[in-house]
Amino acid sequence: MRREIRVEGRTDALDLLAHFPAGVTPRPEQARLLAAVADAIAEALDDPAAPRVFLVEGPPGVGKSHIAMTLARWSGDAYLLTSQKLLQDQYEREFGAALQIVKGRDNYACSHYPDAGVPTSRGACRRPRGPVCQCPYVRAKTAALEGPIFCANTAYFATLRHWHGEHLRRRRLLIVDEAHNLEAQLAGVCTAGFLPEQMRAWFGAPLPRLASADDYRPLLAKHLDRLEERRAAIGRELEALGPSELAPDVFLRTPPSRAEQELIAQRDDLDAALARIHFFLDAEKTEWIVRYPPDPAATLELVPLSVAAMARELFVEAAELVVLSSAVLGPKSVLAECFGLDASGVRAFASPSPFPVEQRRIVYRPVGALSRASLAGLEPALFTAVAAILADHPAEKGLIHAPSYAAGARLVRDLAARAPALARRLIWVESTEAKARALDRHRASPAPTVLVSPSLREGVDLPDDFLRFQIVTKMPFPDLGDPWTAARRERDPRWYALETAKALVQAYGRSCRHAGDYGVSYVLDAQFERFLARYRALLPEWFLDAAEPALRARCPTHDAE
Ligand code: SF4
Repeated sequence: MRREIRVEGRTDALDLLAHFPAGVTPRPEQARLLAAVADAIAEALDDPAAPRVFLVEGPPGVGKSHIAMTLARWSGDAYLLTSQKLLQDQYEREFGAALQIVKGRDNYACSHYPDAGVPTSRGACRRPRGPVCQCPYVRAKTAALEGPIFCANTAYFATLRHWHGEHLRRRRLLIVDEAHNLEAQLAGVCTAGFLPEQMRAWFGAPLPRLASADDYRPLLAKHLDRLEERRAAIGRELEALGPSELAPDVFLRTPPSRAEQELIAQRDDLDAALARIHFFLDAEKTEWIVRYPPDPAATLELVPLSVAAMARELFVEAAELVVLSSAVLGPKSVLAECFGLDASGVRAFASPSPFPVEQRRIVYRPVGALSRASLAGLEPALFTAVAAILADHPAEKGLIHAPSYAAGARLVRDLAARAPALARRLIWVESTEAKARALDRHRASPAPTVLVSPSLREGVDLPDDFLRFQIVTKMPFPDLGDPWTAARRERDPRWYALETAKALVQAYGRSCRHAGDYGVSYVLDAQFERFLARYRALLPEWFLDAAEPALRARCPTHDAE
């Protein structure tokens, strides 16, 4: 693991394993990945023209968070970004004071009002002539800014840089964990979104449905003055509730009323909207997509089609070296294009799975090629196949990946009618918000419960008896009913195939979480076979190790094809 490198005429040793978190022995897969990355870093430090963006692909069980921490500790000066707050919590649990976590303002309580539970986003300093002081949020942010490992979620970090103009100095290393989500997260940060109630308050009524994003430019430009006026009016309303009514010290000792908190929240929403509208109006050369579903309660969103410029800027400005880590990222050429990079400046490393295939089998039981058009006709066969699998696992917990919320609800209704005993095991997750509660119920129940959801493909850890089987009902092709997805696919069909591959691999990754774990994954969609035949190169070897025996078991001619 020692790599000799030259830095400004002297020779240093790059020994990544020396920085492996204490108390844990590196697994062989971790040691091999770190050795390969050490070579690449050594070359990058030695040669300014060498690649500086590294893709690290490791299947579940490899221990990517330990690899990320090793690299961060080696650098002594890193941004470590996670895709969600839950993963930040996991880093905090595993590595404690070795990193400095910071979350958005809403996650901390203003210490001026210890008993009132006022979030710092509506704290005393957000009121007219409020104090400047140090609160839990400011302390956490300062500690993270000054500490060796600044750990935040990607959306928060990008928001600080992009919208708050926060000066985040260039560090030695930027690590983006779960980086398969990075494009979607950056697009989300740039999106100008308007809820129906906001449109009513700000524009007098929901904005009309126009053919293209460009058509919204003159309309929004026309409304800018009105929004600025509304912003000023909120400032005046806050002033009116402020110190002139009460002595300033009494005012600041009293927690903000509900009305005042609502005004502060409205002011923040309006500030955010104005910044995004200006950005949209100024970015005329960028292609934007309008997302505005037909139902009356729909949100209007203007989304940039590409995040390449933003990603490139992030990589260059945030750090000297960049590591993107995930179970699957796909070919570096596709990823480089997506992030506006030159593929020759990117280097990829992948690890095999530490688990034998027998612990993470795939069983292929096609009921037909499922698509939007064929789904209704094939649902009876699909639901019958699901019922049979549930009956084959009478005493085990499991997970059913539904094609969509609507199809999942139909599946639950169908099973309730045809097999009430099986249906009683189901825990239907009817929305993203219901996920956490459903997972708690599943974990707490002694019964062989089975979660049903289209949104549990990633970010959930169900080891051991919490998941012994799972069912991929339909191949997880991204929804082409979404205009952004459709436009993205039109621009680059490989991107669409890669998104499908990533979603499939993420779902499969739920089945076996550690060396002593095991679980079987059933695939019921005949598109699986077609997809593998066409896009084998997009899928990692450790996935193919399980998928190909499944195809052979189902289709003896597969080897010859
Ligand atoms: S800086 Fe002070 S006033 Fe502002 S939210 Fe924090 S504790 Fe409250």
